[in-house]
Amino acid sequence: MTDAHWLFGDQLGPHFTAPRDGVPGRDTPLVMIEARSVLRRRRFHRAKAHLVLSAMRHRAAELGDRVTYVQAETYREGLRRAAGSRPLTVHHPTSRAALGLVRSLGQVTVGPARGFLVPHEEFRAWADGHGTRRLRQEDFYHWVRRGHDLLMEDGQPVGGRWNFDHDTREPPPGDADVLGVPAPYRPREDEIDDEVRYDLDRWERAGEVSFVGRDGPRRFPATRREALAALRRFVRHRLSAFGPYEDAMLAADPVMSHSLLSSSLNLGLLDPDECVRRAEEAWRADEAPLNAVEGFVRQIAGWREYVWQLYWYFGESYRRENVLDHRAELPGWFLELDADAVTARCLGTVMAQVRDTGWTHHIPRLMILGSHALQRGWDPAAVTDWFHRCFVDGYDWVMLPNVVGMSQYADGGRMTTKPYTSGGAYVHRMSDLCGGCAYRPTERTGDRACPYTAGYWAFLHRHRELLAHNPRMNRPVRGLDRLRDLDALLRQEERRGDEPP
Ligand code: FAD
Repeated sequence: MTDAHWLFGDQLGPHFTAPRDGVPGRDTPLVMIEARSVLRRRRFHRAKAHLVLSAMRHRAAELGDRVTYVQAETYREGLRRAAGSRPLTVHHPTSRAALGLVRSLGQVTVGPARGFLVPHEEFRAWADGHGTRRLRQEDFYHWVRRGHDLLMEDGQPVGGRWNFDHDTREPPPGDADVLGVPAPYRPREDEIDDEVRYDLDRWERAGEVSFVGRDGPRRFPATRREALAALRRFVRHRLSAFGPYEDAMLAADPVMSHSLLSSSLNLGLLDPDECVRRAEEAWRADEAPLNAVEGFVRQIAGWREYVWQLYWYFGESYRRENVLDHRAELPGWFLELDADAVTARCLGTVMAQVRDTGWTHHIPRLMILGSHALQRGWDPAAVTDWFHRCFVDGYDWVMLPNVVGMSQYADGGRMTTKPYTSGGAYVHRMSDLCGGCAYRPTERTGDRACPYTAGYWAFLHRHRELLAHNPRMNRPVRGLDRLRDLDALLRQEERRGDEPP
């Protein structure tokens, strides 16, 4: 019996079917399984369910007779129907659950991961080489740049610096309400999307599945061709502006100069190597400035890659980390993406973006959504699950380090040196979201008290002992002593409870 090769729904680009070390063979038959149980298990954003099914079905249509595409209740059932007891190969899946499943089946040989820059063993050797020293993303990033000869000349970083980060932290430009860069690529739906929409409607009507968020025209690439067009348009027309305003937020311009490429990378439609190479080529051709190109390369070769590696390196217990002992359940308005129930303009605006598109850029994720969850003491595992379900680019591997570590500080600082949360002053400085808000970032008690400002002090107070030992937090913690209205603030936050702010 000849082997067949199994493609998961996030292994859709040509780099997952191109033979390398004989896997898969040039003509190896392929198997894809659309397992309905995945959609039943969690209440995903409707746009995410649509995107993933659309991308899988588009890939199956491209592969034609070479693939057996089975719609089944579970992976096991689908595999039985598609391959029987035939031996299979698969590239290393992206979640522990999927890896556990393929290993338990007995008939599947797991090959190396594709779609990332660094093999697991190399990362492990690098990380183990640190002994008890802290792992730092910045060190990892330098190591990847050297190893992959990215933005390097004669062994040194081009421009004489590794990092142009301090050039990329600018507040939004003065009086403009949009950044004014050319719009990102938008795909056009086709008959496969019609079919997906028909199926989702049907399953939802039958009560088999249920979603959050709004349906709408598909905004993210579902095919390699669309993903390449999106990459091309970004590099040609939008990359130059990526640098300075990467951390800024504008109410009327949620995308600004961000690439919108995360879902394509995470579906495997794009390979990270081609994304960073194209950005570097743009700089070498004088088509984009170094600070923008370096910033983009750092996001992919630094952050994305680091997060992927840490997911495996930190082990299964990482998802249960909860050093701050945050136990509160997520309130209904947040679970339902009820943006209209929210008065705080920043949170309401960002929740509406998530409700309508399943996407928002990294600062709203970190400093608006995640920061609110942290300040309210919500259970980090439930927050992780919420991000996983509500974002078009959310997968287990990318959620755990980003949410448990980066956003909720539930790992006590293995991923970051301090909790990422702030008062309203930060939001005010980095966005236009405080203008026209019912609250004032400078006020911490009373009717106009900004929920972020008050929430920040209440958070510091709650974790005073733990944070006082953190060199980056002891100054703000000492600031608590200067607050004459701390008791009133704490009572106010207690009263606010789970109400939408
Ligand atoms: P750009 O700003 O254009 O960045 C370019 C690329 O860099 C992204 O496409 C992405 O592939 C990569 N990248 C940058 N930072 C990260 C990171 N921290 N982790 C992984 N990739 C990164 N990213 C996801 O892909 N899926 C998620 O579910 C996800 N959840 C997040 C949750 C929180 C709380 C935070 C703080 C960040 C999360 N990120 C996630 C990282 C980042 O916010 C998104 O990758 C980015 O906003 C996607 O938009 P973009 O493609 O326009 O990114």
